[in-house]
Amino acid sequence: MTYSIDELLHRSHDEWLAAAGKLTFETRLFLDGSFTDATSGDTFPTVSPRDGAVLADVQAASAEDVDRAVRSARTAFEDGRWRDLAPRERKRVLLRWADLILANAEELALLDTLEMGKPITESVRVDVAKTAETIAWYAEAIDKTYGEVAPTPGDALALITREPLGVVAAVVPWNYALLIASWKLGPALATGNSVVLKPAEQTSLATLRLAALATEAGLPDGVLNVVPGRGEVAGQALGRHSEVDKIAFTGSAEVARLFQVYAGESNGKQVAVEAGGKSPQLVLADADIEAAASAVAWGVFYNAGQTCNAGSRVVVHASVKDRLLDTVRRITADTFRVGDPLDPATVLGPVVDRRQLGRILGYIERGKDDGATVLFGGGRALAGSGGSFVEPTVLDGVRNTSVVGQEEIFGPVLAVISYDGDVDEGVRLANESEFGLVASVWTQDVSVAHRTARRLRAGTVWINTFDASDVITPFGGFKATGAGRDKSLHALDAYTALKTTWINLA
Ligand code: NAD
Repeated sequence: MTYSIDELLHRSHDEWLAAAGKLTFETRLFLDGSFTDATSGDTFPTVSPRDGAVLADVQAASAEDVDRAVRSARTAFEDGRWRDLAPRERKRVLLRWADLILANAEELALLDTLEMGKPITESVRVDVAKTAETIAWYAEAIDKTYGEVAPTPGDALALITREPLGVVAAVVPWNYALLIASWKLGPALATGNSVVLKPAEQTSLATLRLAALATEAGLPDGVLNVVPGRGEVAGQALGRHSEVDKIAFTGSAEVARLFQVYAGESNGKQVAVEAGGKSPQLVLADADIEAAASAVAWGVFYNAGQTCNAGSRVVVHASVKDRLLDTVRRITADTFRVGDPLDPATVLGPVVDRRQLGRILGYIERGKDDGATVLFGGGRALAGSGGSFVEPTVLDGVRNTSVVGQEEIFGPVLAVISYDGDVDEGVRLANESEFGLVASVWTQDVSVAHRTARRLRAGTVWINTFDASDVITPFGGFKATGAGRDKSLHALDAYTALKTTWINLA
């Protein structure tokens, strides 16, 4: 039975619970177009953060399994079964895949929600629908992408063409398991590469299902292999494999740097990393406070704060701070209902696992020790459910250079930093971070808005909005956040190498 996105968005809690009860899980590796046992015999549990129950034991890929997956991808690349297809043929397969993702939205969304706790409505609306949109967007782009002819003298012709890199290893986090995977898979597959995908330990089930749908859509065997497994085993094996041409990584800054080391110590493969943030929302004295407060609340509480571009620091002018925070408090109380992520009325689900729960609560204590005040929230919620829920929390009076002012908490915790001086002081505080993923500025003065946007060191700057995004614009960061960009046509460059072909016409 197939349900449209719209039908799924109108489901009741009971209907979702009933559908969840019927799910079955595939826990093997996906290699050469089919599910295969891992050689290791090792497994790891996928635990649902909504109630702490074990959903399944997933097979963990060993280094040997990773080697099988990379060799399969290499063979598929070298024999040209995918890259030599006409771009229009690759487009057709990828469009069929996007259709199948939508046709299987119920199952994919349920897997995503059960595994990582995202409210079901968001799994449907964002993770699944946007994943299909991303794959379709790159499919549509690929037969409209031309090479170049260089301005040579008349006795020569020089062509500049793009060629796929070969085998891409995509290593992704759990917070948007399908969507972030699609940011890599869309451009990498459209341009003719083969991909080995390693999901985060917490979110293997949805990812395995996604890959099986690609085969169903007609993607040749071996072009997309999935190796669930432990980061330090399967992730590292991919990072060090000499037959991998590129690592496309999203995750923490710490692991991003490990991949740079793996690459340097092996074959010097390309490494693109998207890693974390502590993104500021800069609220100037003349801001529209109602609009800014709504964006501040959504910016940090959406997806329980587990969004790389969460607006987890607000840098606000002292003259409007109280009004802003009162409004954030009201909006949070009215909107962010904490509850079972399978309930469509839930806006704030659990955080991904017990470890993350402990980490977040630890940060809140650390903030208090460093002199911050808990304005609201500050503790665990719904503890009786067995799930890992955290109250939406605002820490006021945070020093920008303190731990909670600088480190990525990755939970529903806002750090409030206020300043008394001019815009320069606000910009200085906003930029005082090792990260540079996104930033926003809130002001009604268009000139100040533009001048400030230019000075904010971030890959995306929003003016009087937050988290507006689409596959049509690049996404990635400055400074320790990373190197490389996902999304937009620029991502096609990330998965291709330019080739010059010089022809003597004399
Ligand atoms: P993580 O870095 O722990 O894990 C990411 C991936 O790397 C997972 O697949 C994991 O298994 C693998 N990995 C872990 N240790 C490894 C090792 N030693 N060697 C090789 N691979 C290893 O991150 P996470 O906990 O899954 O995700 C949360 C982090 O991701 C946050 O810091 C967040 O900011 C970041 N993130 C960034 C973006 C972005 O676009 N910049 C997007 C989403 C998440």
